[in-house]
Amino acid sequence: MTITEPLLSVFETVESEVRSYCRAWPTVFEKASGSRLYDERGRDYLDFFAGAGSLNYGHNNPVLKRALLDYIERDGITHALDMSTTAKRAFLETFQSKILAPRSLPYKVMFPGPTGTNAVEAALKLARKAKGREAVVSFTNAFHGMSLGSLAVTGNAFKRAGAGVPLVHTTPMPFDNYLGGQTPDFIWFERLLEDQGSGLNHPAAVIVETIQGEGGVNVARPEWLRQLADLCRRRDMLLIVDDVQMGCGRTGEFFSFEEAGVTPDIVTLSKSISGYGLPMSLCLFKPELDIWEPGEHNGTFRGNNPAFVTATAALDTFWHDGGLRDRTLLQGARIEQTLSEICAEDGRPGTTHRGRGMVWGLEFEDSTRATAVCRQAYEHGLLVETSGPESEVVKLLPPLTLTPAELEEGLEILTRSVRETA
Ligand code: PMP
Repeated sequence: MTITEPLLSVFETVESEVRSYCRAWPTVFEKASGSRLYDERGRDYLDFFAGAGSLNYGHNNPVLKRALLDYIERDGITHALDMSTTAKRAFLETFQSKILAPRSLPYKVMFPGPTGTNAVEAALKLARKAKGREAVVSFTNAFHGMSLGSLAVTGNAFKRAGAGVPLVHTTPMPFDNYLGGQTPDFIWFERLLEDQGSGLNHPAAVIVETIQGEGGVNVARPEWLRQLADLCRRRDMLLIVDDVQMGCGRTGEFFSFEEAGVTPDIVTLSKSISGYGLPMSLCLFKPELDIWEPGEHNGTFRGNNPAFVTATAALDTFWHDGGLRDRTLLQGARIEQTLSEICAEDGRPGTTHRGRGMVWGLEFEDSTRATAVCRQAYEHGLLVETSGPESEVVKLLPPLTLTPAELEEGLEILTRSVRETA
């Protein structure tokens, strides 16, 4: 079959200029399975992007797909606002027994609307309500979403400028290693809090990513996170961990903060929680924070029941033991080894790597190089995206379920792409 392309595609004539990923990967995708996507010409691409972290278990996982098809076929509820349904009950019971109880996490579960930014908005609103204060502290290079509350705690100047209104009641603090280890951690934050002349209103909460996914794969050290949790406790501020991108096993454990041994007051989850790429998000909080009035926060699409079905199947399939965690840590170590080899071969001092579990960043001093590497990788059939304020980092986010052979294939393409852009 020959596909004749119109001079300008409907994506260019009808779809808004705001589109972005399709510019980096200029083809029309048709199908996907496991760790691969296929375009309409039948060319396949190995996916080291995984729906920006929404496809930790790969595309169209057969077990999840079966559960979804069975549910649809028996006329299971699709849309239900926050009505009680059998699908929601099964999800809550499974989330409680497979995730919360084994970790002794006491959280209440709120369904705030289908996207990550919905969970962040709910978290910020709840923290402000609980503490009766408006100020929230965020971190340099943070990313928390595109709605106004989330943008106000997001660092990126380009994204912030899009708000069109002042983004207020938030103060950025240096993320771990922002000052290159030249000052003791939290010295500035602690000083502002104790000094009545500092101009910092007492914050209701601090919101943090344990690894900044969009901000350049910046990894907070466990001891830094523990110090932050301690600071929050001492200074009566709630700790919100935004686990939208790093949760659901990306770093090994189900929650990315487990390694540090901290228990945040509020946690946001989305992306891979449905396990199938279906929109779903959660805001989790300690029971004493459950001070919502019925209906005080709502939304039409909080009850995406097909997502509850695939989420339950994902927890049953991947979280009944530590198998996925062990595999993630093992494959992560393999990625780290390859990245060290790539950096050594490249030889430039500005070429560095960092990460944890199955999220890794490869940074280049020349910020155009990361984009060039991603373009080259695409030509060789590998999807990887950039991250960081100058798009200076190649971000590796493969499905956690990819096979060792797929991992080797992707790493080989990456190595070749870096070499070709040297
Ligand atoms: N928080 C974090 C840490 C994220 O990475 C993202 C998305 N990249 C969001 C929030 C926003 O999620 P969504 O795009 O689903 O609104």
